[in-house]
Amino acid sequence: MTKKIAVLPGDGIGPEIVAEAIKVLEVLNAEVNLGLEFEHGLIGGAAYDVHGSPFPQQTLDLAKQSDAVLLGAVGGYKWESLDISVRPEKGLLGIRSELELFANLRPAILYPQLADASSLKPEIVSGLDIMIVRELTGGIYFGQPRGIRVLENGERQGFNTLIYKESEISRIAHTAFQTAQKRQGRLCSVDKANVLECTELWREVVTEVGKQYPDVALSHMYVDNAAMQLVRAPKQFDVIVTTNMFGDILSDCAAMLTGSIGMLPSASLNTEGKGMYEPIHGSAPDIAGKGIANPLATILSAAMMLRYTFNEGAAADRIEQAVNDALDANVRTADIYSDGMKKVSTAQMGDAVVSALIKGA
Ligand code: NAD
Repeated sequence: MTKKIAVLPGDGIGPEIVAEAIKVLEVLNAEVNLGLEFEHGLIGGAAYDVHGSPFPQQTLDLAKQSDAVLLGAVGGYKWESLDISVRPEKGLLGIRSELELFANLRPAILYPQLADASSLKPEIVSGLDIMIVRELTGGIYFGQPRGIRVLENGERQGFNTLIYKESEISRIAHTAFQTAQKRQGRLCSVDKANVLECTELWREVVTEVGKQYPDVALSHMYVDNAAMQLVRAPKQFDVIVTTNMFGDILSDCAAMLTGSIGMLPSASLNTEGKGMYEPIHGSAPDIAGKGIANPLATILSAAMMLRYTFNEGAAADRIEQAVNDALDANVRTADIYSDGMKKVSTAQMGDAVVSALIKGA
């Protein structure tokens, strides 16, 4: 059966890293006949330049007709002065909400080969394996009313709305409990229930849903403490579930525990398991076009796609093993380079994964 993938490279390093993920997928596709078909589309600044919109109708149609979306990243200096309604990041928020990708799964795994790349002591991070489940289509990033208004005295006032319905909290809670069931069976729900009523409801609903998962140990933590614990003793966590904005911040923090933002994939799923897969980092305009970006987060996102949307767990395992083998072969892009290693370009890292994949076959 054909599996159609919408490929949206986006901006900055997006096209460079997505090309490497496609290279890896094509090798596997030819070898084990996965039936993958790729169709490219535009999103972000690249789409704005051609269509005047960061998320044109053509891209929405392509995404809806596809089984999964593989995305690079959006944004860059060139588009920073545009009106917020057409900035590249709007394209990302648009596709997430149009496809109802409410659940964002962000693993933070420390590869033992990169323990020295972490800013924390190796004993604090070695063996780290956390999954952050971030609510992605609600909360303060989407809540209305929002804007900047002028008060009677002429002063400007910015405002946003943190808002969650019970149904939105309960569906992400179910995803998180089920994720914890497949791991170590521990779930920590992060909120700010002592100050924000919206997250007081969050805590109540998560607790209620938890009664259906007696095999999962549920705990609650305020977000400020969670930020502190993530850098103090991160291995205490198995799965973390949290709101859109808290998840955005905490997952970047967890990312750095692993040494490089260039190593971490993500999956964003809807209720039918359709997903969008992307690295957690941005378009890195500071290094775009130099051929030095780390493509591993995108390659690992492609592995998540095989596992979560296409149920091809064995193929996903093979990609993850090939990444591990490439690191064992001591090849490193600049962001994860250390003395004694072989510094490679984006394309050479993709080649190293392909060659490990072929060797492992
Ligand atoms: P960023 O993640 O793009 O970059 C942060 C730092 O990490 C930079 O120094 C960059 O060079 C480095 N980096 C990121 N990915 C890397 C990789 N694969 N290999 C090596 N180094 C890498 O975040 P930023 O600088 O805050 O944002 C840049 C642009 O990206 C902005 O326009 C922002 O809005 C956008 N952004 C997009 C997404 C997305 O598309 N999902 C996410 C975050 C930021």
